[in-house]
Amino acid sequence: MRFDIITIFPEMFPALFGAGVLKRALDRGIVRIEVHDLRDYTTDKHRQVDDRPFGGLEGMVLKPEPIFRAVDAIREDAGSKVYLLSPQGRTLDDGLARRLAAERQVILICGRYEGVDERVAEHLVDGEISIGDYVLSGGELPAAVVVDAAARFVRGVVGKEGSVRNDSFGGGLLDHPQYTRPREFRGLKVPAVLFSGDHKKIERWRRTKALEKTARLRPDLVGRNALSPEDRKLLEEHSKERKTS
Ligand code: SAH
Repeated sequence: MRFDIITIFPEMFPALFGAGVLKRALDRGIVRIEVHDLRDYTTDKHRQVDDRPFGGLEGMVLKPEPIFRAVDAIREDAGSKVYLLSPQGRTLDDGLARRLAAERQVILICGRYEGVDERVAEHLVDGEISIGDYVLSGGELPAAVVVDAAARFVRGVVGKEGSVRNDSFGGGLLDHPQYTRPREFRGLKVPAVLFSGDHKKIERWRRTKALEKTARLRPDLVGRNALSPEDRKLLEEHSKERKTS
């Protein structure tokens, strides 16, 4: 799978993609990321990418021509998907990240300044993607977030089978709590069940904890993903135990 990022600040990306799981995937050729300097797609002497907004407001807006030209040059075929990063877009979530991971080529356009000439959103892209209800100064961090979230769902990127599935949201719940050594630290103990060696018991504990934590921190997820009868029972038993202890 291939990501192409169109930006006026290509120098922002090497550090973000140069470490960890993503770097390993790039080195092994499982994922490809090409970062393109928008200025390379200008035709004037000053390599101008922005201009003043019509109607006389403050600030600058990214011009449409270099962006259209860049996408024309970069897209491999009609099946390539093109998205504009924008606070006005659809908020990125687990499901969207999964769908992007199934594409062959995803082209991401990073806005700057007051934004991007609206003709890009209206006539060029397949959609607008936001990473949350707040405004950042550019689309570069959001593009890196989209790439990281989607790449994790490309087969072979995250090492161990199943670890993506167990992550938060994967099965509709938050992940269960994790502990490592030491067993006791400043009087804080790791739950004893994890040393029991009883894998069934440990699995049940993990499921209960994931359910309890999701119900407490993200009740909206429990509502949306209607619990199975087994999960409902685990959760009820857990709250009874808490009341009596
Ligand atoms: N005036 C615009 C915001 C411009 S911010 C508005 O109010 O809608 C400049 C650029 O940063 C945007 O074009 C977009 O590419 C990026 N950006 C800012 N916040 C973002 C967010 N929450 N998600 C995705 N991209 C964002």
